[in-house]
Amino acid sequence: MSNDHLEEDLKELRQVFNSGKTKESSWRISQLKGLLHILEDKETDIFMALKQDLGKHHVEAYRDEIGTVVKSVNNVIGNLKKWMSPKKTRLPIAAFPSAASLVPEPLGVVLIISSWNFPIGLSLEPLIGALAAGNAVVLKPSELAPTCSSLLAETIRDYLDNSAVKVVEGGSDVGERLLQYKFDKIFFTGSACVGRIVMSAAAQHLTPVTLELGGKCPAVVDSFSGSRDSNMAAKRIIWGKFGLCAGQACIGIDYILTEKKCLQNLVESLKRCIKQCYGDDPKGSNSISKIVNKKHFSRLKCLLDEPMVKNSVVYGGLLDEESLFIEPTILVDPPLDAAIMTEEIFGPLLPVITLESIEDSINFIKTRPNPLALYVFTENENLQKRFVSETSSGSLMFNDAILQYAVDTLPFGGVGGSGFGRYHGKYSFDEFSHEKVVVMRGFLVDFWFRYPPWTAQKLQLIKAALRYDYIGVVLIALGFKTNA
Ligand code: NAD
Repeated sequence: MSNDHLEEDLKELRQVFNSGKTKESSWRISQLKGLLHILEDKETDIFMALKQDLGKHHVEAYRDEIGTVVKSVNNVIGNLKKWMSPKKTRLPIAAFPSAASLVPEPLGVVLIISSWNFPIGLSLEPLIGALAAGNAVVLKPSELAPTCSSLLAETIRDYLDNSAVKVVEGGSDVGERLLQYKFDKIFFTGSACVGRIVMSAAAQHLTPVTLELGGKCPAVVDSFSGSRDSNMAAKRIIWGKFGLCAGQACIGIDYILTEKKCLQNLVESLKRCIKQCYGDDPKGSNSISKIVNKKHFSRLKCLLDEPMVKNSVVYGGLLDEESLFIEPTILVDPPLDAAIMTEEIFGPLLPVITLESIEDSINFIKTRPNPLALYVFTENENLQKRFVSETSSGSLMFNDAILQYAVDTLPFGGVGGSGFGRYHGKYSFDEFSHEKVVVMRGFLVDFWFRYPPWTAQKLQLIKAALRYDYIGVVLIALGFKTNA
């Protein structure tokens, strides 16, 4: 879709949506199958684009951006008929004769703005929901992953119905231009700062928004009774920090909270796991992504360059601007008011903050913005219960990280500063649908007391109808006294 023809293209999308074409289940299935064909036919091109933009190894690329999406599409195709069916719902007997149902309907022409760190996955995952729900769609991928953006534009044009699904490429200027138009839903993945711009533009048209934002996701690490569990926890932490786009992941672990007495063992285990995963030369391992661009590289360098922060590095710390590579780096107790502890890190720097008692971690987290994800590694059931009841986050996972993202039966989304709205599986379908209430009434019975003129008896009958439903009304009508 050319930006020069934005207005005509949006008109076309509106016309196609109004024609009812996108509501047909056959159309929805054909588009979803088109996505599957893209992922099958263009697997190598996707690998190459992700390598080019982010230095992602193809195993990581397959896991996060192809395999997960294929799984999602298949899940939707298998369930779509059921999700599209009206849901019958009960009405009070006082409304007899009647029947009611909730009928899902598409919202209209929707806008999806996505991010660069999983440029294919974060574009296609919401697109699956939008198409499954029967909407016409504009997708704006991130300009910071340009090879992936143009691959999406080209393949979506070739494989999907171009009259109803259009890709608009470009940066913030294009995003701002798009936001001037009226959409029926905006699904945004990105920073809180741009999220605010999206939300205020949406307010002009009363357009509902979903904001998938980020923030700092803590991992709390308790002591373990056995070395097997403690080693496995360390391995999962390393994977949850560095294993997804080199820490450039919204649900990646941002920092660790642990007890002072656990620090030494924990840091030794983390170092060992980094070596197991990336060897002595992580840069040469080919298994860790690069930093997306010079701007983000400099941002991360600045986080490390604060003197008190630099002094807290206990492992790694190598930066190579030429290749945009940053080594997996562990820091112990950088100052809590340093930028590395107040801003989302979004890179391979892992601060470990020590506390007197592991219970203190609850207050530490509660006094900061709600995380998108919170990970707690502990065998202590009492502590687990306290985290469930006393903290708030988009998701809370015990003894592992990230996996909650890839499960179709779990909603994914934030709370508070980490965003609102949720998607994946049926939740995506719901996010892009309106459940219309449809009520059918008949003329067999009519309660005379619903109509004016009002009397004391009518009030009693209305009270009974609302409190006791049909039987109460009949009893009162027959002359029995109630407390009503
Ligand atoms: P960003 O907000 O800079 O950009 C996101 C998208 O918005 C891009 O497509 C960009 O072109 C567009 N954009 C930028 N300025 C705009 C404007 N003024 N008007 C309209 N559109 C505009 O974010 P980013 O750098 O792509 O991503 C990093 C942030 O996103 C991090 O905070 C991260 O945690 C978060 N994130 C969240 C999720 C999630 O699923 N919750 C996933 C990935 C990233």
